[in-house]
Amino acid sequence: MKISVLTLFPEMFDSLKHSILKRAIENKALQIEFYNIRDYSKDPHKKCDDYSFGGGEGMVMMPQPVYDALEAADPGHKARRVYLSPKGHRLNQSLAKDLSRLSHLVLLCGHYEGLDQRIIDHYIDQEISIGDYVLTGGELAAQVVIDCIARLLPGVLGNEESAMFESFENNMLEYPHYTRPREFMGHSVPEVLLSGNHQKIKKWREAQSRLLTKKLRPDLLKE
Ligand code: SAM
Repeated sequence: MKISVLTLFPEMFDSLKHSILKRAIENKALQIEFYNIRDYSKDPHKKCDDYSFGGGEGMVMMPQPVYDALEAADPGHKARRVYLSPKGHRLNQSLAKDLSRLSHLVLLCGHYEGLDQRIIDHYIDQEISIGDYVLTGGELAAQVVIDCIARLLPGVLGNEESAMFESFENNMLEYPHYTRPREFMGHSVPEVLLSGNHQKIKKWREAQSRLLTKKLRPDLLKE
């Protein structure tokens, strides 16, 4: 899968240098390319923002550099073009799965007060938000999107099953995990997990999943 990131701050994408994302890129399961929006500005000073028509505080990203960067990343508009925005569709596991099936995804990161609306209306397919709060820019949001997509791509996680039984599969939260030692500061691991009885362990985990979901995220059960 190829992801093209359009940003004014490519140096903010540090998470791609570590752990599973680094491996996904090295294994070529994921190809990431960056387009620095400033490189596409036709302004002599490479300006990318301007005042908001109608007045008010804050600057707005100009359409020309963004349009040209979009055309460079995705000539002829064949990819899914996503603008990271607090107004967008809230990211969840099912949207991450949908995105992970694409061969080419373009992620456009906003800054300042955001983008000129004409770009969103005419050249963007989807707006995605990572939650109901306002970030300074789309770069952190894009990294969240890239991370949750990458772990769904075939061959990225060491053990394919670890993505299959995670939280939000079948609208359930995952069961709790324990590791050694068997006793820590007087707190023991649930006995059933030490029993070696796989049938019993499976049942216990399913029951824990249901209990946790009911207690922490009852909204998931309604979906
Ligand atoms: N003025 C905008 C508003 O009130 O909706 C907020 C602009 S924000 C300061 C700058 C940029 O950060 C946005 O253009 C967007 O790309 C990104 N951003 C902020 N919050 C986000 C969120 N919750 N999810 C995704 N992107 C976000």
